[in-house]
Amino acid sequence: MRIAVIGAGIAGLTAAYHLGEAVVVFEKSRGFGGRAATRWYERPSGRVYVDHGAQYLKTESEVLRRLMLQELSTADLSDIGRPVWTFDAEHVIREGDPGQNAEPKWSYQRGVSTLGKLLAEAGRFEVRLRVRIGKLQLRADGCFTLYDTEGTALGDYDQVLIAIPAGQAADLIAASDLPQVEKVALQTALQAAVYRRCLSITLGYEREIAPRPFYALVNTDKRDPLAWLAFEHDKIGHVPHGNSVIVAQMGEVYSLEHWDADDQALVNEVAAYVSSLLGERLTDFDWADIQRWRYSQPNTLAESSQLNGVLRGLWFAGDYLRGGRVHLAAESGESVAAAIRQAIP
Ligand SMILES: Cc1cc2nc3c(=O)[nH]c(=O)nc-3n(C[C@H](O)[C@H](O)[C@H](O)COP(=O)(O)OP(=O)(O)OC[C@H]3O[C@@H](n4cnc5c(N)ncnc54)[C@H](O)[C@@H]3O)c2cc1C
Repeated sequence: MRIAVIGAGIAGLTAAYHLGEAVVVFEKSRGFGGRAATRWYERPSGRVYVDHGAQYLKTESEVLRRLMLQELSTADLSDIGRPVWTFDAEHVIREGDPGQNAEPKWSYQRGVSTLGKLLAEAGRFEVRLRVRIGKLQLRADGCFTLYDTEGTALGDYDQVLIAIPAGQAADLIAASDLPQVEKVALQTALQAAVYRRCLSITLGYEREIAPRPFYALVNTDKRDPLAWLAFEHDKIGHVPHGNSVIVAQMGEVYSLEHWDADDQALVNEVAAYVSSLLGERLTDFDWADIQRWRYSQPNTLAESSQLNGVLRGLWFAGDYLRGGRVHLAAESGESVAAAIRQAIP
């Protein structure tokens, strides 16, 4: 039995981890973890790790709790330990929910993408990085041939799991040679999942900024341009001593309106928002970076039963089936792995 998994995000890797050695994972980027993403930068005082997608990992779901705390290495894992507070559009800052703040907020010393690396190392499957799947072709014998975007055939597989964001999955299905009725049904089901965009801005300082009683601030009335602001230097091992790093993730409306904005103008404007919110001059950052997340988190979900089971041997997993969180993507991956195991002789 040959199984292909498309996408080495947490949904695809969790599925591959549970399915084992029959699996080949294809991933278009250079690394593991998808939107559980970390970038690193060489700075004069040392290496800086920045989680510029998912900010931390929660083990409130059994699937991720078991994986992270029991099955994978915990050597690099640490609880941020400090609370998330809230703010509104008037910039009134309040203490956050004590219940939620009591739960651990996990990151790894080299960032949340470590979870993807650990899954890939512990799993017994093969991974092929820098391969973007462009098309599937259903053959007369029921197998699927996979092609990259150059049209090169990558082998035949009995089962294929598509574990990429719904919008990209819909494009892949549209480009594929599949029976027309099922193809339209899959595209329609995938289009139900609508993602928001997010501009994620990193601001680096070669100095210590003022200490605060919170690790992050979340905008609760959703009326501020900023949706989320966090201190990477509060995460163990991320930022060399004496330096500070702020991650500012912009709200849906702001992100959409500023999607094509000039980089320098964008970081300057965001630094001014951050300064105003925190009441400290933070416009004098030493370096900055921008990530434009086209598929950040789903606002609406798709229905698994309208995707899994529509075409024999073709499976779907991802946060758009459960909710835009890493632990929910892991749940989706585990449950589809169980369904694939049941379906194969
Ligand atoms: C800005 C931001 C903040 C977030 N904050 C949090 C948070 O604090 N806590 C939390 O739990 N979650 C958070 N999330 C959500 C979380 O990151 C996602 O829900 C989760 O990582 C989704 O995992 P996935 O496996 O479903 O998809 P992805 O992580 O998107 O994985 C899909 C993978 O498929 C690859 N791929 C795509 N197309 C192809 C192709 N054609 N061929 C091969 N490979 C392909 C992609 O490169 C990617 O690696 C955040 C997300 C963003 C963007």
